[in-house]
Amino acid sequence: MVKSSSLKPEFLEEIKKRLLADKTELAQDIERLADEDPLMNPERTAESVPEFEEASSQMQGSERIAEEKKVLEKRLEETEESLKRIEEGSYGICKNCGNPIDQARLKANPQALSCLDCKSRLSQKQESA
Ligand SMILES: [Zn+2]
Repeated sequence: MVKSSSLKPEFLEEIKKRLLADKTELAQDIERLADEDPLMNPERTAESVPEFEEASSQMQGSERIAEEKKVLEKRLEETEESLKRIEEGSYGICKNCGNPIDQARLKANPQALSCLDCKSRLSQKQESA
């Protein structure tokens, strides 16, 4: 039997609005980052052939942007998964243990897909790895 969350429709509606707003914002941020990436912007580099040092700082800038982009893309993925879960009626259920996630936690972080217990267990595992 599929567990369904006991969250109120009004609560879900509010979460959904926030997720949709986040989604739009994240997509814009990712686009903006792509524009900032000096290696992805041929117009900027075509102005002058960069000296070695300039090229290396461009490379570093590009790496930093790639890192930032990764974080944003992960967040966007979580946002989309949360929205999907709202549609499926499984939102608010921990994807690890199947227990309901604390509403206060969902309010603070609508993208939360696992409960606090699982989250802290997982992050501990990551730290020790
Ligand atoms: Zn859990």
